[in-house]
Amino acid sequence: MSPIRRVRTLAPLLIGLFILAAAAGSAGYHLSLSMGLAALQATGRHRLDLYTTSLEREIDKYAYFPATLGLERDVIKLLSGPGTVAMVEPVNSYLEQLNQRAGTLAIYVLDRRGVVLASSNWRQSDSFMGEDLSYRPYFKDAVNRGSGRFFGIGTTRGEPGYYLSSALISGSDLVGVAVVKVSLEQLEKSWDLVEAPALVADENGVVILASVPTWKFTTVRRLDDKTRRLFDQTQQYNRRALLPLEVQQNRRLSDTASLVHLSGSGADPASVFPVSGQFLAQTQPLPGMMWNLTVFSHREQIDSMAWSHAALAAIGSAFLAILLVLVNQRNRHQRDQLAAREALQRAHDDLERKVEERTADLSATNARLQEEVIERIRAERTLRAAQDELVQAGKLAVIGQLLAGIAHELNQPLAAMRTLSGNTVKFLQRGDVETARLNLGRIDQLVDSMGTLTGQLKSFSRKSSGRPRPVPVRRAIDNALALLNQRMHRANIKARIEMPDAGLWALCDPNRLEQVLVNLIANALDAMEGCSDPALELRGERDGERVRIKVRDHGPGLADDVRSHLFEPFFTTKDAGGLGLGLVISSGIVRDFGGTLAGDNDPQGGAVFTLDIPLSPDGEDECRKR
Ligand code: ADP
Repeated sequence: MSPIRRVRTLAPLLIGLFILAAAAGSAGYHLSLSMGLAALQATGRHRLDLYTTSLEREIDKYAYFPATLGLERDVIKLLSGPGTVAMVEPVNSYLEQLNQRAGTLAIYVLDRRGVVLASSNWRQSDSFMGEDLSYRPYFKDAVNRGSGRFFGIGTTRGEPGYYLSSALISGSDLVGVAVVKVSLEQLEKSWDLVEAPALVADENGVVILASVPTWKFTTVRRLDDKTRRLFDQTQQYNRRALLPLEVQQNRRLSDTASLVHLSGSGADPASVFPVSGQFLAQTQPLPGMMWNLTVFSHREQIDSMAWSHAALAAIGSAFLAILLVLVNQRNRHQRDQLAAREALQRAHDDLERKVEERTADLSATNARLQEEVIERIRAERTLRAAQDELVQAGKLAVIGQLLAGIAHELNQPLAAMRTLSGNTVKFLQRGDVETARLNLGRIDQLVDSMGTLTGQLKSFSRKSSGRPRPVPVRRAIDNALALLNQRMHRANIKARIEMPDAGLWALCDPNRLEQVLVNLIANALDAMEGCSDPALELRGERDGERVRIKVRDHGPGLADDVRSHLFEPFFTTKDAGGLGLGLVISSGIVRDFGGTLAGDNDPQGGAVFTLDIPLSPDGEDECRKR
């Protein structure tokens, strides 16, 4: 697959994988975050309860403190009657000692008008003694409702504190109000073990207690001008700036919980818990008071946990998707393989069926071919018989042609014999026995040569046995030439024979080889008739396991139209005596030897016929036997 095609195939898969991983990551993140938030809320609620309880316990320690002053006779006496200096002093001392023991900021008593009659800090120059505190809410609450609680900053010293007041009753009359001022540090002691930033805001939203010091006297909600004016009047916060707490609400989860961001500016860097960043803020009112306790739980852990879960979900889903793709691919591959195997099986079955059909066809064809072969063999046999007949006929034709020459050949010795025999009779009559004997010897020679000629004729006309055997090529050539000797003599043609020194043996039928050679030589003589410079060359040579015999004449050669029809039956250019069968029969004979006969023009002029027949390897043994 080309890289571009691969990218095209993979791109949608990768995009899908990315979307899936992103979706799973996002789902993982939100799920983990909501679970983390739920857990954080539970922890936050637990802390709220814990801090509330400890704060309540701390406040409750002082709750009954002011009321117990009503049990002190000196105090009641001071408040009930017109007080004298002598009455004030023991009460002051008493309150001073009580204050020291309780560790509170101040303990003092006010008469019905709200004027401080005795105070634990009577010795100090900025003592409350004689101060009119009737405007303070805790005084009013004690007068009106029997007790009061109030957070405020002292007007004298500017010291913040929690005021607990209680109406002092004598008989059934209100004689005054006892007040205990508890320091914030004292209340905050209960928060020594806090693990998270926490604050207490009063009914005005002003932070009065906080585990982070810089948060104190900030506001958790914006103060309008009317409220600020009221504060100026009551001097509750002693004209503090009351800046807003640097908290930014991001999301409100419920009435009591929201996600916030704390800037943490000005926070103590050595703080044991983080005071800046993302927090879960949970608020709950303190029972019996109009204060609200808020606890900030840091979100860092659940955030990082959510990111980890998101990464896990993304990687897990991507891994799962890849696994599914791989499994799917493997299944598809298996299906493809199965389909391919089935297709292969089908193709195999088809092939087998076709092979069976073809085999059946082939058997039929084979049978038909066998019949044809048998038919051919029969036809060939018939042809062979006809050919044999034709050979015979050809030979007869050659014999006919030769007849004149042979007759002449025989006539000459016969005439000579007649003359010699007549002369011999005469010599015998004369008693010249010697000359008569010479004549008789001469006659004997003539008879011998005639016998040779007739013997050759006999062998030429003999039907071949057809069995190939080693034949000396030179002898076959000599025999053929002998048959045509007269014609050659008359035409004054000498045959030039070239043979290897070791002799040459062909594996064939000797008579038939001679017939072929006679045919070729006779054709050469025919062609050279009327030629001014006739010549005949006969060459025998060995070529590997073959014997090549060339019969070349110096005649006009083979014309193109003659060459293409040379071996066609009854093709002849001869006016008389030509049957047009010589070359056809000769090539048939040579083919029977397992050889070939070809006719061509010699580059030097004239025609050359080449016989190519098998060599007889046993030729030399045969030679030795003979
Ligand atoms: P025929 O001799 O009866 O014509 P052949 O089959 O022997 O029949 O020869 C066919 C023909 O081939 C001849 O008529 C002749 O035209 C041509 N031919 C054969 N041998 C030679 C040769 N040596 N030179 C020229 N032509 C030849």
